[in-house]
Amino acid sequence: MLGLMQSQPLMISAVLKHAARHHGAAEIVSKNVEGDIDRYTWADAERRSRRLVRALQALGVEAGDRVGTLAMNGYRHLEIYYAAPGLGAICHTVNPRLHPDDIGYIVNHAGDKVLFAETSFNAVVTAIAPAIAGTVKTVVMMTSPALMPALDLPAGMRLVCYDDLIAGADEDYVWPEFDENTASALCYTSGTTGRPKGVLYSHRSTILHAYGVSVADALALRAVDRVLPVVPMFHVNAWGIPYAAAMTGTSLIMPGRHLDGPSMHKLLNDERVTMTAGVPTVWMGLLQHLRATPGAKLDTVQRIMTGGSACPPLLIEAFGREYGVRMEHGWGMTEISPVGTYNRPKPAHAGLDEAGLEHLTLKQGRVLPGIDMKIVNDAGEELPWDGVAFGDLKVRGSWVASAYYGDAPGSALDADGWFATGDVATIDPNGMMEITDRSKDVIKSGGEWISSITLENIAVSHPDIAEAAVIAARHAKWDERPLLIVVPVKGAMVTPESVLAIYEGKIAKWWLPDRVLVVDELPHTATGKLQKNTLRARYQNLLLEQPS
Ligand code: AMP
Repeated sequence: MLGLMQSQPLMISAVLKHAARHHGAAEIVSKNVEGDIDRYTWADAERRSRRLVRALQALGVEAGDRVGTLAMNGYRHLEIYYAAPGLGAICHTVNPRLHPDDIGYIVNHAGDKVLFAETSFNAVVTAIAPAIAGTVKTVVMMTSPALMPALDLPAGMRLVCYDDLIAGADEDYVWPEFDENTASALCYTSGTTGRPKGVLYSHRSTILHAYGVSVADALALRAVDRVLPVVPMFHVNAWGIPYAAAMTGTSLIMPGRHLDGPSMHKLLNDERVTMTAGVPTVWMGLLQHLRATPGAKLDTVQRIMTGGSACPPLLIEAFGREYGVRMEHGWGMTEISPVGTYNRPKPAHAGLDEAGLEHLTLKQGRVLPGIDMKIVNDAGEELPWDGVAFGDLKVRGSWVASAYYGDAPGSALDADGWFATGDVATIDPNGMMEITDRSKDVIKSGGEWISSITLENIAVSHPDIAEAAVIAARHAKWDERPLLIVVPVKGAMVTPESVLAIYEGKIAKWWLPDRVLVVDELPHTATGKLQKNTLRARYQNLLLEQPS
């Protein structure tokens, strides 16, 4: 027997309509890439998104077409987030920090018909234009007529001004309803190995993810909140915040391109931000600025969500103790829309002492309702949730990818429908998951596994170390041994002995890195993650070449 409830397809436009109707006055503040600040409301965003649909249609965009963007977080980008799927097309966010060859490859692979770009990416657009001329017919610069650049584009590729498009478009569009499984957005993975691969979200997966991240034990967004997503809209859907904020009527503060400590501090205080979200590197920059500025405070920020890579304990401790701000750890990936877990305590954690609480906050958290997870060994057998055994982390759920763009549905899953994340993790009896490594980064010493993330976290608790990476170096006897590479804090001098001393009593003796290298900087991917493959290529034979 079927239930007797109304059935409405889960449409992305529905949350925008909700925001406009019920939270019409909630603010959207954008620090534009050109430096000025624009303010409007969710009601304005909905009205202008309807205009943008009409403009896209006038450019020849139809249902199923891909609309590329090269942009930071701002209100025009938000309008594309809603207008493209609102007409059945696909908002394809492209990471502008990638190498132009990769950007060209991604735009061509997606077959974008139109490319929207901010003026800060003029050089990228010019560089890739000849390579993408076969698919992109129009480039729309996301700016006002006064700031329109004169770009040299190949014959047949039009250059248009965003604000002109909106000004010339009608507002008469009525958001349609269609199959909730229709594709809505496309985002390519960082591609640290091989070519980037596209993850194609649907209206249904996006709305379910937005509900999932909004719960009180996750982002807990409220109408009274003012949220600043530092996490970029060009990658991993800004952790779903642009959709979840509309759903919850939260005001959005968009930071544009200046994400350094002083700029963030000013924007967070000026705009009375209550919650913000981004990768640990940004919070490290903010912390350094706050510490270096006598009397500096965060006036209104209550919570910082961190994710994207492991959060050094120092950050959680420092923001909590020195600035009264709670750091909350989340985990996810492009293929999971992206949020899979969030770290909030359970009743069982009530009696934890300080050390226990500290360790708890480092974990990546428990699954959101809608996701399931497990850890398995090399034979695919499920491992116990004892907080000790670590294995390959697999997930499944309504906002987990089933295949990459262009591949057959289900082709990214195992025979039982699970998606292998490529992360290695433990899960404790309370269901708290802790990432110990990417599977390709784990160090296999004499048949036993050593967690590079654990060693890195301890290294950065050294007051003179700014950043650390641990990689597997080949070893004649043990196959692999940990090699620690550190970047000292500006002006500090560190010796290998002083670095190794910090591990005393914190790890099993055989986990101690065999060698410490002190370098000026570490390589990062375009999304700010440590580029360990580059480090491995450079140093993996060091212990064979120079045994100690
Ligand atoms: P991306 O698809 O670019 O977001 O990368 C996803 C990967 O980032 C995950 O598979 C993890 O390896 C890593 N990651 C994301 N969040 C965390 C976190 N909180 N702690 C450790 N690693 C993380």
